[in-house]
Amino acid sequence: MTTQALSRKKLADLNFTNRLYMTAPFLFAKVAPEPLKNPKILHVNSALLNQLNIDENLIGNPSFLRFLNGDLDFEGLFFGASFYSGHQFGHYVPRLGDGRAATVAEIETDEHKFFELQLKGSGLTPFSRMGDGKAVVRSSIREYLASAHLKALNIPTTEALGIITGDDDVYREQIEKGSMVMRVSESFLRFGHFQYYAHTNQEQELKTLVNFVVDHYFIHFKDHPNSYNLFFQEVVKRTAKLFAGWQSVGFCHGVLNTDNMSILGLTLDYGPYGFIENFDQDYICNHSDHEGRYSLGNQPGIGMWNLEMLGVALASLISEEDRKRTLETYPKIFFVEYRRLLLEKCGLYQPVEADEEFLRLLLNMLVVTKVDYTQFFRALSHYEKGGELKNIPGSSELKIWLVQYEERLSMEETSQNVRLEKMLAMNPKFILRNYVAQMAIDNPSLVEKMFEVLTHPFEEWNDHEEWAGPAPVRYRNLSVSCSS
Ligand code: AMP
Ligand code: MG
Repeated sequence: MTTQALSRKKLADLNFTNRLYMTAPFLFAKVAPEPLKNPKILHVNSALLNQLNIDENLIGNPSFLRFLNGDLDFEGLFFGASFYSGHQFGHYVPRLGDGRAATVAEIETDEHKFFELQLKGSGLTPFSRMGDGKAVVRSSIREYLASAHLKALNIPTTEALGIITGDDDVYREQIEKGSMVMRVSESFLRFGHFQYYAHTNQEQELKTLVNFVVDHYFIHFKDHPNSYNLFFQEVVKRTAKLFAGWQSVGFCHGVLNTDNMSILGLTLDYGPYGFIENFDQDYICNHSDHEGRYSLGNQPGIGMWNLEMLGVALASLISEEDRKRTLETYPKIFFVEYRRLLLEKCGLYQPVEADEEFLRLLLNMLVVTKVDYTQFFRALSHYEKGGELKNIPGSSELKIWLVQYEERLSMEETSQNVRLEKMLAMNPKFILRNYVAQMAIDNPSLVEKMFEVLTHPFEEWNDHEEWAGPAPVRYRNLSVSCSS
């Protein structure tokens, strides 16, 4: 038996803590969760369970189900909903907060890593406003699958430990069944948390929050005299890299309000997100976003705008000149990272000056030919000189680009075999297309297999070709709303 196996724990033996609550109790309103009636586990993320040192045999145990349902009273467990505000579609809303989520605890693993646990869909809180605090199966499945999938695509994200469903009726456009997801993250702190304390002139509380992040997450400059400035630089850097990651796989978040922006640069709050099928900068995944504020092409600029708003919130801690200088680094970090990711998708690892033009021509070709974005790069991984791209319709534009590609490839030293291996690990065969998520929603027994495929999206999974391509006719033109 390995030491790892020995350290698996029953729930009662876990090291529950809550560093954020202990440091910043003012951030939370205490709440009581409303467990679902007749709860059932739909899926548990066993890899994450292992990472948290929780005994896998617990999955079938009634106490584990009660834990996922917020129905367990352990010492150290805490249910709190936090205060935040934020800019929604460009307009400042002074009070938002966790309206349908509550922090359950933080777990310290044997490796001294800390993970915060939150239940989403656990009922009313003081921040529920007009809402009911509940989540429905549809939105929970979407968050559950997407967060695990983005992690597998190497994009920073919050994760989810498990998903449960219940018999409760929840009223949306129609009656749906209630559900809960237990989300897991190093932190769920958002830009909006900092904005709330800044806009209400609670300077000491704001400082406490910034210090908390520096002390626990950005420890490499913990004792630096200029730590507030370095804090902002780090958030800008992480945000720029996150957005570059999204653009590279064609992920559109859908609701990039400042309250949905993670201070650690993680993908946070999965709502009406979408992955592109063909490359289209005008792609809008949220059908309430009439002006396309959060379209695919607008995302990087929105990242900058949101950081500017965070900068305003930090005005009492960082000089205007320093904030300006830091914000100016965003486009550079974004483009360097985005260019690197696109070049690696093409199997190019030794950048040359002409790459900017080469990539512009690539994106133009993708726009004009409307080929499937994911399938194109997967096929390109197998490309051999003079050959064809599997599943990709031929066209004169593609032919012209392939000539340029061959020319560019000839400047690289990487061997064809090494390139193939690297490209297959960079260009997923599977992406969580809306219709794939919809299939799981229509038939939740598919969640198990889909989870496996989407958390190993670079593997072939020959038995599941039906999830690899563009939407079949009966699933075309799905639109996704915020009403989750
Ligand atoms: P979102 O657009 O999902 O990020 O949510 C914006 C705000 O609305 C947040 O403060 C949420 O907590 C709150 N909210 C969204 N849905 C509900 C709901 N069903 N019940 C209560 N609050 C909600
Ligand atoms: Mg939100």
